[in-house]
Amino acid sequence: MNKSNKKIPLMLPFLEAEEMEAVIRPLQSGWVTQGPEVLAFENEFANYVGSKYACATSNCTSALHMALLAIGVKKGDEVITVSHSFIATANCIHYCNATPVFIDIELDSYNIDISQITDAINERTKAILCVHQMGRPCNIEGLLKIAQKHNIPVVEDAACAIGSEVKVGSHWKKIGSPQGEIVCFSFHPRKILTTGDGGMITTNNENYDKYFRLLRQHGMSISDIERHKLKQVNRESYKLIGFNYRLTDIQASIGRAQLKKLPIIIANRRRLAERYMELLSQNKHIKLPSENNWLKSNFQSFCIRISEQFNRDEIMQKMLDDGISTRAGIMNIHTEPAYNIKKRDYPLFKISGNDGLPKSEIASKHSIILPLYHQMEEVDQNRVVNALNKAIH
Ligand SMILES: *Cc1c(COP(=O)(O)O)cnc(C)c1O
Repeated sequence: MNKSNKKIPLMLPFLEAEEMEAVIRPLQSGWVTQGPEVLAFENEFANYVGSKYACATSNCTSALHMALLAIGVKKGDEVITVSHSFIATANCIHYCNATPVFIDIELDSYNIDISQITDAINERTKAILCVHQMGRPCNIEGLLKIAQKHNIPVVEDAACAIGSEVKVGSHWKKIGSPQGEIVCFSFHPRKILTTGDGGMITTNNENYDKYFRLLRQHGMSISDIERHKLKQVNRESYKLIGFNYRLTDIQASIGRAQLKKLPIIIANRRRLAERYMELLSQNKHIKLPSENNWLKSNFQSFCIRISEQFNRDEIMQKMLDDGISTRAGIMNIHTEPAYNIKKRDYPLFKISGNDGLPKSEIASKHSIILPLYHQMEEVDQNRVVNALNKAIH
């Protein structure tokens, strides 16, 4: 295969010599989990997003689970969220034996339509779980006004949104500098900063942070770092039934190296995204991601929507035939088999209102995610654009 038809992947993690060296550090020290690398990664992460606390976790799903437990979500409660998201967004509500209540998205942003929240609130509503989909911040300012009026805590699923920003007054704030109560991130390789697997929870609430640290380590009263400093023998106690939701020092060490390069990774993704927008602006069958003066997306995914007269899957197949990987747009959780079990004694989900989720359905059916990664060369981007224009005209 010559260079011109080499396969173009959807995403590539950006891992270099620094990450390789980072792996060796904890291996040499012998402290490979819940040690100094985890602690340093947490402090550097909190510093980067501008939160008081950051607690490292095994992944974003475990982070979301603990976030909902911290605000007291339990059996019989409802949590308002979107169906148009990765399935973990709703699964973590089920882990608390509560019911997700789905509301629709805005087609422009693929994010929660905040004008529908008030109608979905009732006496069982325990939380709002909003998603910053594909790294594009949702209207968190507007959402918080509604949540505060009804005194409902907000958890942010920022799995994809590390480094994305929103304008608050005249200041830019990073997602994770908590506006809601708790913000959860993912370090899966499909996201922008990767540790293989991993996650982080940020908050400004000290009690929540303490609770996360207990929960992630089996409810153990003494952390490994604390035990290491003790001068006297001390036996821990177990204050509650916790989980093993730990991140290892090997992962944290990689995360620290990744965090250092995050600003250049995001700047480059934004440059490539703008280049896509310019190159595709002529094709009237393609709806490009919308930009806005109050947000800066990290472009975790570059998602386009194509006119309904085209068959999306056929276009993806044509792209693949040209050696270009793409993905269908974001899924809708409520249409997956796991959420479609009829014989249950309680509903697996509710849909707010009587109109269904028409925009979520359009978005899921007609969207394509295009290749975008830090190392992407402009010639490869041109190839994607040419293949698209050939398939859609
Ligand atoms: C990736 C993702 C998750 C899950 O993250 P993991 O780290 O794989 O657990 C949750 N929510 C959204 C919106 C995601 O994109």
